[in-house]
Amino acid sequence: MLELETASASETEALAARLALRLEPGDVVLVRGELGAGKTTFVRGACRALEVTGNVTSPTFTIGHLYEGRVPVAHLDLYRFTEVSAAEWGDLEPYFDGTIAFVEWPEAGTTALPPARVSVALAHAGADRRRIRLDATDPALLEGIERADPRVRYRD
Ligand code: ADP
Ligand code: MG
Repeated sequence: MLELETASASETEALAARLALRLEPGDVVLVRGELGAGKTTFVRGACRALEVTGNVTSPTFTIGHLYEGRVPVAHLDLYRFTEVSAAEWGDLEPYFDGTIAFVEWPEAGTTALPPARVSVALAHAGADRRRIRLDATDPALLEGIERADPRVRYRD
């Protein structure tokens, strides 16, 4: 478990990017936090690092987006689900097939979804500050991730 604080949206994007560079297809990342906490911002930073071009926006009014980056990337939002039924899992499954998958509001799907490699929880910590907690099944995945990675560059 790692807990840290960012002071801007771009710092959150940079953290997400460093995580993304350590992931591989088949990995699932759950992204929790209340509205405005920065879930989509986090996923956007991860997507940029995975060379997804174009807009990365909240899929709140669809189940998810599939992006073509260096590898396929899925971005799901289960906000409207109370529970993921077997039939609904049929609709979700393709998003997890060979992708790195980021799931916002995963609470309803935690029993149906493939096991997560990383769980991220974001919380407001005043103004533009966010407290971010990262949990990984393999703690080595997070080692040193709080340090800046010079390979990561940002475009606004
Ligand atoms: P969510 O998907 O959790 O509803 P969004 O990522 O859509 O949240 O929105 C978060 C908002 O907060 C954005 O407008 C973003 O620019 C802003 N923000 C300010 N500071 C931060 C920070 N430290 N980390 C992430 N987002 C931040
Ligand atoms: Mg969102």
